[in-house]
Amino acid sequence: MKQRMISIIIVGARGRMGTTLIREVMGSDDLTLGACVDRSGGPGIGQDAGRLAGRPDTGVLVTDELKPRRGSVVVDFSLPKATATNVRACVEHGIPLIIGTTGLSEDDDKLLAEAGESIPVVYAANFSVGITLLLQLAGIAAAALGPQWEAELFELHHRFKRDAPSGTALRIGQAVAEASGRKFSEVALTDRSTLGRPRTSEEIGVFGLRGGDSPGEHTLMFLGEGERIELTHRAGDRAIFARGALRAARWAAAQPPGLYDMFDVLGLAE
Ligand code: NAD
Repeated sequence: MKQRMISIIIVGARGRMGTTLIREVMGSDDLTLGACVDRSGGPGIGQDAGRLAGRPDTGVLVTDELKPRRGSVVVDFSLPKATATNVRACVEHGIPLIIGTTGLSEDDDKLLAEAGESIPVVYAANFSVGITLLLQLAGIAAAALGPQWEAELFELHHRFKRDAPSGTALRIGQAVAEASGRKFSEVALTDRSTLGRPRTSEEIGVFGLRGGDSPGEHTLMFLGEGERIELTHRAGDRAIFARGALRAARWAAAQPPGLYDMFDVLGLAE
């Protein structure tokens, strides 16, 4: 029997993630490139998506307007200012949305929750399978160790990343806080330079380093008396995020409406 092909619409197509997604879709057996969208007036508009990604021509030209089509899944890795328009377009056309853009506002979060009432939405600050497991391990460790083991985490990303600390680092901090009965917004610390006091046992330090070309490294430390646990994930290649997002797209194509994350996609949700 012929496999059903899923058409993928990539938003942010000219970006680092967009071009990686184009290559991954072109290399897959069950996905086709439905459309590629980028910012109006940007340099990639009108170019062939394959050429943009350093591959042969595909016949799909990059456009500046998202027109979701039935049977497609939209995969959006662009910028927060584009999120609201893209979410509304997917809702209007009843098309599943995979969203990887980080640094979203509270209003965007609300919009995603509302969109989940009518379409499948998968939102993850990090689509890597390894990070999804790290999040789960962070929760297990925090619950077992308790707040006497002080939690600190740092992340490193390439020089171009705009938001800091990374969405993933904040998500890891949140997993630690939730598993040990703390409210992350009350205990998160991203700058100690003006505090002028020692740390409290409750606080969770989250710090971002920027430079070079790393697609993302996260280290979570639990610091105890005379011993320390470190959980580290290193992304060697941003294709891991693209593969995770496309795994989510295949999964979302067959789901009822809802706001999902990678735990749902991997079957790890409670
Ligand atoms: P990038 O700057 O290389 O690419 C962003 C692209 O979005 C650019 O081509 C830009 O022109 C385009 N864009 C801007 N405004 C737009 C609009 N209104 N409509 C359509 N396209 C628009 O950035 P990147 O490194 O590819 O990352 C993109 C986003 O994905 C960032 O928010 C980044 O933090 C996030 N990211 C998420 C994950 C994850 O796993 N969730 C992994 C890597 C990156």
